[in-house]
Amino acid sequence: MSSALHPALQTRPRYRAFTPRDLDGLLDRVSLPPAERLALRAVSAVLPFRTNSYVVDELIDWSVVPDDPVFRLTFPQSGMLPAHDLRRMADLLAQDAAAAEVRHAAHEIRMRLNPHPSGQLDANVPVHEGRRLTGLQHKYSETVLIFPRQGQTCHAYCTYCFRWPQFVGESELRIATDDIAATSAYLRAHPEVTSTLITGGDPLVMSTEVLRRYVEPLLAIDTVRSVRIGTKALAFWPYRFLTDRDADDLLRLFEKVVASGRHLALMAHFTHPRELRPPVVREAMRRVRDTGAVIRCQGPLVAGINDSAEAWAELWEETTALGAVPYYQFVERDTGPQGYFGVPLARGHAIFRDAYARVSGLARTVRGPVMSAMPGKVCVDGIAEVAGEKVFVLHLIQARDPELVDRPFFAAYDEGATWFTDLKPAFGAERFLPGLEVG
Ligand SMILES: *Cc1c(COP(=O)(O)O)cnc(C)c1O
Repeated sequence: MSSALHPALQTRPRYRAFTPRDLDGLLDRVSLPPAERLALRAVSAVLPFRTNSYVVDELIDWSVVPDDPVFRLTFPQSGMLPAHDLRRMADLLAQDAAAAEVRHAAHEIRMRLNPHPSGQLDANVPVHEGRRLTGLQHKYSETVLIFPRQGQTCHAYCTYCFRWPQFVGESELRIATDDIAATSAYLRAHPEVTSTLITGGDPLVMSTEVLRRYVEPLLAIDTVRSVRIGTKALAFWPYRFLTDRDADDLLRLFEKVVASGRHLALMAHFTHPRELRPPVVREAMRRVRDTGAVIRCQGPLVAGINDSAEAWAELWEETTALGAVPYYQFVERDTGPQGYFGVPLARGHAIFRDAYARVSGLARTVRGPVMSAMPGKVCVDGIAEVAGEKVFVLHLIQARDPELVDRPFFAAYDEGATWFTDLKPAFGAERFLPGLEVG
């Protein structure tokens, strides 16, 4: 059983979300020129915006807004949209255009932002007895992703989120299921699946009661050896584990998974070391760890928020000090505001290497920078000179085709490349590996 609540937490902070309607009021805290405020409203009409009282009051340093990294993590910035799209939307808002017209323009702009990269909607959807299970993804043979219908929102949205289409506009862009029986049937028919990842959105926006309906059936399937929960709640709403009404029930549910003999991994999304500083986060992590769950931390490298070796070294060292395990450092995906947040692979690798070189071996469990691309999880191992040619050295950590896992390959060095599809095989070769094609 986890121990009693810290005395500082006798009060019960109430979760309060801020949405695009609240944006203007929140921006009253800073002095921005009117055109800039309009631009931020225009971005929030196209891309998701949601933050909350904890992020606003405890994480953001308003004295340095708009440069504050955590402000940039949840508030819109004008560079997030292509200039002509931004102007179009700002003009519509300035003219008080009809809601339908704004919606239509927002939809058109979204459709040009590659809303479903790497075949998300099609390539990974499993089929069971002739039916497509659209709330699951099964890309790597041993792991199935589950998107609970009630978990398709978050305590706050990250501006750089690659799943942004889950949170705006039309429901046909949403991946979700509440067919728990079909999920179980699929897992029973696929004993090669040893790991399940409940994701979203954020599954921890669901009440414990609803989460339990997704988790407990997994414990009846012997071949499922690990349950992962992908979440940003530790960073954005640590009270989920402390003082929310069903916080203790959540911890009991975690204990139940562990008692079943399975590995329970809380796949925690952390973006900046600032998120680890509040005592409530540390207390929340302690409570989660007391259940026997393992906290594994991951997040993307994003321009203007955490693109420095100092930030990553502190994040990994502090994660480790708090008993959690650094897992993946991701490359910003080729969708949404990638043009604004993306960091070229060459620079990204330099930041990774520099940070990795500064931390103890305990924190070098992290792998990266990793691109979750169509063929699999591509890791940039480094930059080398081979037979007089400067190349990227890469390997697949995970692959759709397991034959391709852990085989080094080479791409021609390109200082500006930001994604796998920008890369060409080195040495004039036609493909990276037999079975691993360009793009
Ligand atoms: C990253 C990912 C996984 C999990 O990969 P691990 O290396 O086991 O963490 C599973 N499915 C998809 C689609 C993924 O992108």
